[in-house]
Amino acid sequence: MLIELAIGDAYGAGFEYADEMSADNDLSRYVKHPRHRLIPGSYTDDTQMSIAIAEVIVSQAPWTPQVLADSFVNCFKRDRREGYAGGFYDFLLNISDGKEFLAKIRPDSDKSGAAMRAGPIGIFSTPQKVIEAATIQAAITHNTPDGINAAVAAALMSHYFIYRLGTKRKLGQFLEGYVSGEWSKPWEGKVKSKGWMSVRAAITAVTRNHSMSELLRDGIAFTGDVDTVATIALAAGSCSEEIIQDIPMHLVNGLENGVYGRDYLIELDKQLMSLVDNKTS
Ligand SMILES: [Mg+2]
Repeated sequence: MLIELAIGDAYGAGFEYADEMSADNDLSRYVKHPRHRLIPGSYTDDTQMSIAIAEVIVSQAPWTPQVLADSFVNCFKRDRREGYAGGFYDFLLNISDGKEFLAKIRPDSDKSGAAMRAGPIGIFSTPQKVIEAATIQAAITHNTPDGINAAVAAALMSHYFIYRLGTKRKLGQFLEGYVSGEWSKPWEGKVKSKGWMSVRAAITAVTRNHSMSELLRDGIAFTGDVDTVATIALAAGSCSEEIIQDIPMHLVNGLENGVYGRDYLIELDKQLMSLVDNKTS
């Protein structure tokens, strides 16, 4: 899951709000964003914060705002990178730990930040546990109904596939049974910054594609906030037995591989997926 979402994020980063890049969406390479400084093949905040969440899950530490906020801060400080929204980047630069994070954050965003990092939470063994864990992590930064619902829906997407709860055609209906939103209504057109928009687009792409490569290309083709669409869609798609796992090898090999790059993600992925609760699946 983590390696796939990182590839989606890194690939999508070249196309984020850059409609003029659309002709390059052929999966042949990581493209350079026309305005951002990010090196092609580098992942962004979506992946770094998903790593922070996954590390807390794997460590089996208590699922508290403080532990989670510490992990967000730690992951950023040890591996600072472009791709965060400017205001949040400066915020992270100027605080020292999770305690200070919680004291100083204004947790009133309804954008996609809590949803983009929620995929790994699907590993928890029941929808109720997923909803509870996704809500606690979302409320740290996105304590609004839209911000939380988007995160819960994104976490339940991967849960649905990890635990084989149904066909991908029924994904939207499944989500509507647990969280408020028109999740089965197909998304069309550009994806703007609200979390539910990215999640709706990701559900649409997962539902209508049959391979990871089609899924990635289709998610990017929406245009707009597509690194987040691709992160959420590929996290879920990587767990679906109806989706052929065919991400091109040059995108796997081209993903950054520093201390927290490809090899780190593969290892953390193994630890995360080993926590699938086989008693309930
Ligand atoms: Mg991003």
